[in-house]
Amino acid sequence: MNQPVLILIKPDGLKKSLTGNILTRLSETKLEIVAAKMVRVSQDLAHNHYIHLKDKPFFGELIKYLRGELHDRRKVMALIYYGEDAINKCRQLAGATNPEEAESTSIRGSYGRITTAGVYENVIHVSSNPDEAEREIKLWFGPDEIIVDLFPTKNIEKTKKIAAWA
Ligand code: UDP
Ligand code: MG
Repeated sequence: MNQPVLILIKPDGLKKSLTGNILTRLSETKLEIVAAKMVRVSQDLAHNHYIHLKDKPFFGELIKYLRGELHDRRKVMALIYYGEDAINKCRQLAGATNPEEAESTSIRGSYGRITTAGVYENVIHVSSNPDEAEREIKLWFGPDEIIVDLFPTKNIEKTKKIAAWA
């Protein structure tokens, strides 16, 4: 069954110039990229993304990590891959959460590390099941940023001021 999965190249992956390597590894899956962008991660977005871990002792440090506060710049690359068994294929390539336990040829096994503060800097995020993928995709992307129709949409009136080119 075709399914979408949210992939984040985390700040350590960007800082270490691993973007190309990671995208090359992911292209082995033959999945289609249906959305991609660079994101300046807000406190709210980071908090909501990792809400399931909010009671963990490392939560504060994890939020700082995702926001880029440990790596000079607040940026994450967010992508949606789409296709047959997308979640399993991408999780397989990513490897285990703990980079020291991840298979050495996996992305996390190759490039991840554990910080002295105890956070797993594991280079990449991959949604772990279809419900999580849907929740995360709706958090990181709007319907207009995705080139296929993944979930039902509605039209709303918006009168917010937005930045435009001067
Ligand atoms: N994490 C950590 N220590 C832990 C568990 C998780 O630092 O003991 C971090 C790690 O960066 C991980 C993220 O929190 O990728 C989210 O954890 P989750 O259990 O969802 O693992 P994932 O789905 O990323 O493999
Ligand atoms: Mg997870």
